Amino acid sequence: MTDPRRDIPATDAALADPRLAKAIDLLGRPLVKKCVLAAQHKARTGEIKPESVIDEAIAALPMSATSMQPVINATGVLVHTNLGRAPLSQAARDALLMAAGTADVEFDLETGKRATRGRGALAALREAVADAGGVHIVNNNAAALLLTAMALAPGKEIVISRGELVEIGDGFRIPGLLASTGARLREVGTTNRTHLRDYQDAINDQTGFVLKVHPSNFVVSGFTSDVPVRALAGLGVPLVVDIGSGLLRPHPLMPDEPDATTVLRNKANLVTASGDKLLGGPQAGLLLGDHDLIEQLRRHPAARALRVDKLTLAALEATLQGPPPPVVSALDTEVDIRRAREIQRRIPGARIVESAAAVGGGGAPGVRLPSLAISLPAELAVRLRRSRLPVAGRVEHGRCLLDLRTVRPDQDEALVAAVLACM
Ligand SMILES: *Cc1c(COP(=O)(O)O)cnc(C)c1O
Repeated sequence: MTDPRRDIPATDAALADPRLAKAIDLLGRPLVKKCVLAAQHKARTGEIKPESVIDEAIAALPMSATSMQPVINATGVLVHTNLGRAPLSQAARDALLMAAGTADVEFDLETGKRATRGRGALAALREAVADAGGVHIVNNNAAALLLTAMALAPGKEIVISRGELVEIGDGFRIPGLLASTGARLREVGTTNRTHLRDYQDAINDQTGFVLKVHPSNFVVSGFTSDVPVRALAGLGVPLVVDIGSGLLRPHPLMPDEPDATTVLRNKANLVTASGDKLLGGPQAGLLLGDHDLIEQLRRHPAARALRVDKLTLAALEATLQGPPPPVVSALDTEVDIRRAREIQRRIPGARIVESAAAVGGGGAPGVRLPSLAISLPAELAVRLRRSRLPVAGRVEHGRCLLDLRTVRPDQDEALVAAVLACM
């Protein structure tokens, strides 16, 4: 009897199989080879037959050369940090793909000379917030705060209310971030109440700026008070306001969420915000405000270390200029019952339930958005998460809920297919 292991195809012979050769063109040789080696191993241990090695390797091929997988967000949390925050609009995706090649990111095609990097995105931002005398774009809001502290308070004090010492997430805290620049925090007031005189008493020739941080991921209620932007603007030192979410104008559903335009009209000198929360764009930090302060930030040596990629610039400009991104659409449109019924009709045993979606991502913590969810047995939640096109739902009262407010209507087809495949 011959050893069946002798029939296991050699690695190079397997890689020459036309289907695997095609996969090498798409995924690269190392990834495909890994799948072949794993299949050969299974054949050696007798788990599969030697003649199945190539089929086994093909079945194990990843869908792309990145291990990151697309996930349908059926959690009902519009800006889900663990799912990459804001999904981009089609216009922003197209722009990003264009910029992925060589592009005129800092090249003037008229003159053939060097041009301002990201001038299109900067102009779009200035146009979107006409009250800003200057604008600058960095990696994220944390980078915007870092640059502000480095440029405006080196060796000086940043005056901040004790009610606004916020932990952003994953253990990162705004006070720690600011202190890492060498600036000193001058905390004023108490957790629940801070008054104008607390700020006035703290300001002296050591003050770099006053910082007001929007407590975006929690609500303090009861016996509370804080000082409005307009009052803080008259203290004779720069006023920086971290609004968090990136709303550029007021939104009727979120009356307590600060927006850049209103904050600047109330005479803040500088506003910082994220690009990938309620603005619905790519990860970015937006800096808007007094022209001279923005110039000071832009010229700071560390600005280069915080500058954004061309992909971000392209996607941000397209988000600002193009059609509303998914986060904005999900905010502004309620789920159509006919859409929910159509999905229910195609999934045996599915029910429709009323649901409350949330803004998430550290934004508008008290706001509940009416929504509809497809209700399924709880055990489907795990299977859906592990399926070929993963779906993230939420488990509530012993049921797996797929909240439709965060599923784009053009994903309904894929959602139904994923559920049916799991049943
Ligand atoms: C989210 C948030 C940040 C952090 O923003 P990133 O863009 O994630 O760096 C900072 N401040 C506030 C108020 C926030 O809500």
